[in-house]
Amino acid sequence: MKRFTTLVALAFAGALHAQQTLNPAIERKVDALLKQMTLEEKAGQMAQVSIESLGGIQNGRFSFSPKLQDAVVQYKVGSILNTPGLQTAADWNRIIGEIQQQAAQTRLKIPVLYGLDDIHGVNYVAGTTLFPQQVGQAATWNRKLVYDAGVITAYESRAAGVPWTFSPVLDLGTNPQWSRIWEGYGEDPYLIGELGVQFIKGAQYPIGSKDKVTVSLKHYMAYSDPKTGHDRSDAWIPEHYLREYHLPPFAAAIRAGARNVMVNSALINGIPTHVNRHILTDILKTELGFTGFIVSDWQDIENVYRRDHMTSSIKEAVMLSVNAGVDMSMIPYDYKEFCSDIVSLVKEGRITQARVDDAVRRILRVKFETGIFDVPVTNVNDYPKFASPEFERAAYNTAAESITLLKNANGLLPLKAGANVLVCGPNANSMRTLNGGWTYTWQGERTDEYAAKYHTILEALTAKLGEGHVHYEAGVSYQPMGRYDEDSAVGIEAAVRAAANADVVLLCLGENSYTETPGNLNDLNLSENQQVLARALAAAGKPVVLILNEGRPRIIRNIEGSMTAIVHTYLPGNYGADALVDILTGAVNPSGKLPITYPRYSNALAGYIHKPSEGSMNPQGGESTAQYEFGYGLSYTSFAYSNLRISKTSFGPDETATISVTVTNTGSRAGKEVVQLYVSDLIASLTPDVKRLRGFDKIELAPGASRTVSFTLPMKQLAFVNTDNKTVLESGAFAVQVGDQKGGFSVSGSRSF
Ligand code: BGC
Repeated sequence: MKRFTTLVALAFAGALHAQQTLNPAIERKVDALLKQMTLEEKAGQMAQVSIESLGGIQNGRFSFSPKLQDAVVQYKVGSILNTPGLQTAADWNRIIGEIQQQAAQTRLKIPVLYGLDDIHGVNYVAGTTLFPQQVGQAATWNRKLVYDAGVITAYESRAAGVPWTFSPVLDLGTNPQWSRIWEGYGEDPYLIGELGVQFIKGAQYPIGSKDKVTVSLKHYMAYSDPKTGHDRSDAWIPEHYLREYHLPPFAAAIRAGARNVMVNSALINGIPTHVNRHILTDILKTELGFTGFIVSDWQDIENVYRRDHMTSSIKEAVMLSVNAGVDMSMIPYDYKEFCSDIVSLVKEGRITQARVDDAVRRILRVKFETGIFDVPVTNVNDYPKFASPEFERAAYNTAAESITLLKNANGLLPLKAGANVLVCGPNANSMRTLNGGWTYTWQGERTDEYAAKYHTILEALTAKLGEGHVHYEAGVSYQPMGRYDEDSAVGIEAAVRAAANADVVLLCLGENSYTETPGNLNDLNLSENQQVLARALAAAGKPVVLILNEGRPRIIRNIEGSMTAIVHTYLPGNYGADALVDILTGAVNPSGKLPITYPRYSNALAGYIHKPSEGSMNPQGGESTAQYEFGYGLSYTSFAYSNLRISKTSFGPDETATISVTVTNTGSRAGKEVVQLYVSDLIASLTPDVKRLRGFDKIELAPGASRTVSFTLPMKQLAFVNTDNKTVLESGAFAVQVGDQKGGFSVSGSRSF
């Protein structure tokens, strides 16, 4: 039996206040430039416009209108975003080149900073490597894979000439109703922080090199937990909960050096985040020492006026937002009004010159750091690894490690050789559903056209098993190019009849693509048509493998019991079907684990982070209701945990525990296991969470092999934020759990940090 030892360093989530480091040479250049700038030039730097307002597609090719010159030369607009439709990397090179030629004609020749939403790879550039969406990346629990996704995204973005990505998303996935939950790394602040930092290291460092981009942390903060469950609406969250749950991933990312932050498009406690000075300036810039710049979200300064009824004009909304700390406005259309508002607000004394200078200083700093003063546009010809097999392999590997086996009764999977499979369901033959939103277009509705060369589940399975072994009856289908929630029955009886000739049914259900407000949902249950199909196929008597392909966990309680096996693919991207089929046929052993709780009931949505009163620990009759718990996922092999060891039984507040456990592969095939460390504060002056993830590591073990995994846990990491918004560690007992191994220790002496 082999023995290995792995040391897992836990990022210390403690004292903030550290100023991000600055490069003195860059600071001198920024000072020199700032001194030469007029107020109008400064206002232009604070403006970001959308490319659709500056040109259009003619004969299949995007070309700028004279508005480009007006925006960049007359109004000195400093940033442009978005896509005029899918473009090749060469088209993007030309587009950005034309923009920079205009910038070169301005008095100070400040280059324009272009930004794109690279949400799962560079999804607005044709032919790039598309990864699983972030929720799937999180399901890998594999830091290296997320780091690689960052490296590849940055490389392919610079190949297209784009130096700024609006990612990663660090929103806390606590509300499964929310239409953007799949854009984030799951529901745990520690997991999100760890993976977000890996993406930033891969994508942004070393900053300024020609294959790196500036990242944007989204959407600062607490965008993800609207009270209604609907996108861009109010969240009611007290500050100590903001600090305990929503802030830590952003704080970790700022410490890792992220240079841009995008503001939460919604409201917290009735305050649009864009005018929340406490959140933007006091916490982010002062307390966390963030020295990059803050960009608004889409039209969100205007929304303070139009949507939130907080001002009687856009100009007043501009004043409130800039004074709150927003440095750049994603306007996205009417730059003239924004620029003249800034100028007159300064002249009227309603925004200080110092505030404008601070905003522009931050923007120029990031422009210098990114290297676009020296190289305003990069060229695809200098990026030989663009869309290479090496990159495809990384995306495939990420999909393969994300796919999560949730149920496998009677060892149905892997499928027996020679099995005849009936493939059904609206997600069986769709590239659109595999990728989700932010794929070639915002809502992802044209993916079947753009990703035709990749495999749908049906195509991948047919390629693997041979045509004679695969039969297809959709049973239910989505509307072509339709909304995500429109599906219809298209021959459920035919599917049931076909089941008679099959050994096993592969039933591919879930959601069609969507994002943001168009993805708002009123019923978390899986659609009625799909449930009818599932019940009909289960009644046909053949074992059914349910493949879930969805952005948020749709309730499957009423069909779950009749499914023999269940596999969750999330939104696995262009290589997702190949990876899935390799898992179904046994070429790959599944190792994904849920990064979000899979709820059983739509009225019981408490996630794994919950208080004793909210779950099974409630003495008045609480119950544990999840369909599948956070962190859950099966393998084709089995793992046994033993020998939990904690370095001492009692620790001072400044000490660090070493916690180790031995994991053994007790099955007959090699497999990967995610070792998860949970700690529970047993008694605290604020009702403690039942348990919290404090460390994880993913290991691979051959059959019969063992490895000892060690976690280092500083006691400070167990501190919580109290109602005075202070981070405190209280003395007392803590319970530890890794796998089925349980232990405990005590902390002697309280401290605040
Ligand atoms: C979204 C952001 C995105 C921005 C730019 C907004 O509607 O909320 O996530 O980065 O648009 O496309």
